[in-house]
Amino acid sequence: MEYQDYYKILGVSRQATDKEIRDAFRRLARKYHPDVNPGNKTAEEQFKKINEAYTVLSDPEKHRKYDTLGANFEQFSRSTGRTATSPTGSRRSNVPFDRSDPGGFRTSTSGGLGDFSDFFDMLFNDGSRRRATTPQATATDQQLEVTLAEAFTGVKRPFEVTIAQPCALCNGTGRYRGSVCFTCSGTGQMKQTRRVEVQVPAGVADGTRLQARTDATSTPLTFVVSVLPDPNFERKGDDLYVDVPVPLTTAVLGGEVPVANPAGKRFLIKIPAESENGKRIVLRGLGMPKASGSGFGDLYARIQVELPRHLTAREREIFEELRRLRSAAGTR
Ligand SMILES: [Zn+2]
Repeated sequence: MEYQDYYKILGVSRQATDKEIRDAFRRLARKYHPDVNPGNKTAEEQFKKINEAYTVLSDPEKHRKYDTLGANFEQFSRSTGRTATSPTGSRRSNVPFDRSDPGGFRTSTSGGLGDFSDFFDMLFNDGSRRRATTPQATATDQQLEVTLAEAFTGVKRPFEVTIAQPCALCNGTGRYRGSVCFTCSGTGQMKQTRRVEVQVPAGVADGTRLQARTDATSTPLTFVVSVLPDPNFERKGDDLYVDVPVPLTTAVLGGEVPVANPAGKRFLIKIPAESENGKRIVLRGLGMPKASGSGFGDLYARIQVELPRHLTAREREIFEELRRLRSAAGTR
């Protein structure tokens, strides 16, 4: 498998801007377009390479992945048992131009030539070809699940969404040189993966709707928050309920026991002497942050008295002594 230097193919630097990449693609696409070079296999191959290079470098997510891998390609190919510089470098398939297609090219659902290199397949075969049908559509609200800990602290959650951009070759018209544009298959659009970061505020409630944009001018996307149940905490509005194990001796004599909030911050709570099992201790202001941004709910610690087990002989003697004393006093 051959490493594809997409920068070299488009004749741009690694620091090229989106516009430079687009301009280079359009210039080269016009030059190597099969309609301009009928029957020229070299031009055809070159055109496919240009198309592939642009597909990667014009898509922020693919571009990033390519740059990350590019730096480690030798190491990567060794670890996967593949050869980075195979002299044969055979291409995965040799889909011929479909001359019955009005654009002169076989069209595919991925909106391009559908004939990319092995290198491309290796790097992006996890969905780029199915991109048009992935569930990451923008039309409907997306579910955003957070843990209670994340709801407590707030969290930034990255999402990948598929958006449609005007096709760079036909400028969104769907027509190129009097034919159906082969880059976008006449749709006038190129699908691209973009990353959005959704800011989930501290104290977010289940069912809250949040909005995020891929950039300043794009249509906002809606995300519906689902706060997952927590094994330790029960949430009622901004208040939290937690069971706190308390040793029998502490419940009887009083003392302190550690408690952690959902974010994992630990503190000690005072257990009054002779606290009954199930007693609730209210810790004001230690509940969930209020989504309004000011103040906190309360934390209710429910005492769960733990009876001692595996008593030593001496401990058993003491309990027996205690029973005698209480029995004698008529207090059981
Ligand atoms: Zn187009």
